[in-house]
Amino acid sequence: MTYRGRFAPSPTGPLHAGSLVAALASWLDARAQGGQWLVRVEDVDGPRCPPGMDQVILGQLAALGLHPDERPVWQSRRGALYQLALDRLIASGHAYGCACTRAEIAAAAGPRPRHGELVYTGTCRHGTNGRPVRAWRFRVDGRIDWTDRRLGPQTQDLAAEVGDFVLKRADGLWAYQLAVVVDDAEQGITDIVRGEDLADNTPRQIALQRALGLPTPRYLHTPLVLAADGHKLSKQNGAAALDLRDPMARLREAAERLGLQVDDSTTLLAAAVGQWRAHAWTVRAGSA
Ligand code: GLU
Repeated sequence: MTYRGRFAPSPTGPLHAGSLVAALASWLDARAQGGQWLVRVEDVDGPRCPPGMDQVILGQLAALGLHPDERPVWQSRRGALYQLALDRLIASGHAYGCACTRAEIAAAAGPRPRHGELVYTGTCRHGTNGRPVRAWRFRVDGRIDWTDRRLGPQTQDLAAEVGDFVLKRADGLWAYQLAVVVDDAEQGITDIVRGEDLADNTPRQIALQRALGLPTPRYLHTPLVLAADGHKLSKQNGAAALDLRDPMARLREAAERLGLQVDDSTTLLAAAVGQWRAHAWTVRAGSA
């Protein structure tokens, strides 16, 4: 199968040192395997995306020399695809309408073990008792085992650790989990390379792929970049936008975080592709 990878930024803020590591790794992996590399703007959560931030990110990628092989797509224009998928999940019994408010969910739930988030206890699994549907949820079932190219074998008990998760929110917005699964399949993505902070979303996405009869791509989750205080660098904690007056220096720093040793030069990307081919995380022919 032809390799197809992607970088899928949420345009809530400009690229920072952490998101560049994910962008570069996905680009290198596609180039090293002679594949295609796509960019998808994940702007489903419109209220969190400042106007024009998509163009800022696309401009940053261009300044870094990371050019997609196809025109980018915007999730905000793909609602019809997500609705079709939701309709199929409802018809097959994998999705159901939920009438619970946040306060009701909080009152019924225990804390989510890993992140302190709420596990939905499934109050509406068997109907809403005539209450109006607010959100649509996926009915989880059991444990998902998967293998990450860098992190190795992983497992998650979806019922205990996550619970029935939201596909379409009470405010009408599509959830990331559904949009990403629909788009990765529709775009023929074979390899997902992204930051490790997203690793624990993978079992939800695999469960959705199985329910929709879609293939599961290979996954590689890249190391996180930590801020000086030890927290993950993120737009939420105000990570600085990349200073692109010296794009080669930024690329070299990102490459170093991926364990590559390259000089700031115009041939940096080509050298990094060569090193990536020898990288321990790289899938060798026949080993996938
Ligand atoms: N849009 C997500 C983010 O920016 C990434 C989604 C993905 O790569 O699956 O965090």
